[in-house]
Amino acid sequence: MIKLIGILGKFLPNGWTRILDQERVNYQYITELTNLNQLGVIIIARGLQSQEASIIRNYLTNGGRVLTDFIRLKTLLSDFHYSPTKFRYIIPTLRSPLFLNVNSIDIGQQGLAVNDERPNLYSQTYGKGKIIALPFSLDLAFSNTRTQPKFFYYPSKTKLPYEQVACVSRGELRRLVVNCLRQLLFEQGCYYVHLWYYPNRFNTCFTFRVDTDFSPFPEIGSVLKLAEENKLSFTWFINTRAQAKDLAKFSSWQRSGQDIQLHCFQHNVFPDYARNYANLSRGKDALWAVGIKPIGFAGPFGEWNENLASGLEALDFKYSSEFGLGYDDLPFYPVVKGKKSNVLQIPIHPICVGRLLQAGFNFNEIFLYFKHYINSHYAMREPIMIYDHPHRINQMLQLFDTLFKWIKSMKDIWLTNFTQFMEWWKQRESVNYDTIIQNGQIEISTKDEDKTFFLHIIRPSGDETFIPLRNGSYSLDQLTWTKPPQPIILADGIERIRKGELMLRIKELVNTWHRRLKGQRH
Ligand SMILES: [Zn+2]
Repeated sequence: MIKLIGILGKFLPNGWTRILDQERVNYQYITELTNLNQLGVIIIARGLQSQEASIIRNYLTNGGRVLTDFIRLKTLLSDFHYSPTKFRYIIPTLRSPLFLNVNSIDIGQQGLAVNDERPNLYSQTYGKGKIIALPFSLDLAFSNTRTQPKFFYYPSKTKLPYEQVACVSRGELRRLVVNCLRQLLFEQGCYYVHLWYYPNRFNTCFTFRVDTDFSPFPEIGSVLKLAEENKLSFTWFINTRAQAKDLAKFSSWQRSGQDIQLHCFQHNVFPDYARNYANLSRGKDALWAVGIKPIGFAGPFGEWNENLASGLEALDFKYSSEFGLGYDDLPFYPVVKGKKSNVLQIPIHPICVGRLLQAGFNFNEIFLYFKHYINSHYAMREPIMIYDHPHRINQMLQLFDTLFKWIKSMKDIWLTNFTQFMEWWKQRESVNYDTIIQNGQIEISTKDEDKTFFLHIIRPSGDETFIPLRNGSYSLDQLTWTKPPQPIILADGIERIRKGELMLRIKELVNTWHRRLKGQRH
């Protein structure tokens, strides 16, 4: 039985294809509604004509599976009704496999509901088949590039840090959609196959980003010592104006294995193209003058906009990292002026020590906060990517040293930097492979054999295995199947992060203006 994932929609980047591309799961566009029975799941990513709807209903009656959203579902089932709610987020209430490793999901739009007050997934059988529908538009969510201040969860009754970040929690959305897709495949005995996220079967990866901001050079130097003592390669985003007289020193850092990239010339992101381009180009020139050729950028204050992205493209940057666009997610390409950008966005965890101090955390609580973040991301096998500034790292040298030593002791963790990770990610994107699972065998065919790549395969029981990406045929029974790591426990009292959001927005608005006027350290 060969079952494929088919997508019915325009040949444009949209929310669905972005997630499938991050996963590197194979899918095909459906151009004609024929031979549908070879499809394991149809993702409906556009509205249906009435004749198309009746063909798909027939496919469902015979055991087909559909994944879509409420808006498209209405064009499939005319008696389906929904209405908008005031909720712009979804809190998983069920301990269902659909919410595995999913916390509160910010959708950046009004959630839709059937009868309930709150938006929730639609998951219903239809004939011998099944439909799962999202209570919001995935395309709208992914095209949303607005920001808002958000609290980040920490298991304490009183304190929560916050940061101005992307409205939409894209990482949570991805995990939700992948869970839905897997569930639909598993229910009909199909396997879930994708290219593993990390090289050599690593469980996850770790990077540490330093934004040099306005620190005096000796302060930055003592952070280098910390990196060297721990044999780690940090990614340093340099404020070239503030560090103008010491720039040449960074070229020897680069030669010794540190990853030196651009933060800014002027510590700002501008609304218009001309000033962004000028700022990027001035910073880039300054680094070139000392023999450093930056290909990575991190926007001051984590800000991102399309004019910044166009400037990055024009100046040949390969990646950037702004939590105003994405945080706690796998890398992705933003859509800029209707087209997929070629500048890879590398999301990080946006909370730094300054934010924790501001929320009243003491030394021990700061440690526990990072421990909670690292443990949950390790369990989910999502990237562990944190950042900070030299003046704060210097205040907490012991804390960071302990964190690094602990991370290094974790099993199968890829200690890397942004540039290496970007190179890996782009290589992973360029690999093509095909799998056919039938008669108890999996057959792998690829022109891109590489011993660092692995296929991650989950079977309907939920057990998983990894196979190197090599041409060949494997008997499914003879592979070693293991249980995936325990899912993270849905955070108790997660809804607390919603309290006081309005006040937070007002407070952050005032802060942003203040900060912009001064262009000061973060
Ligand atoms: Zn900065």
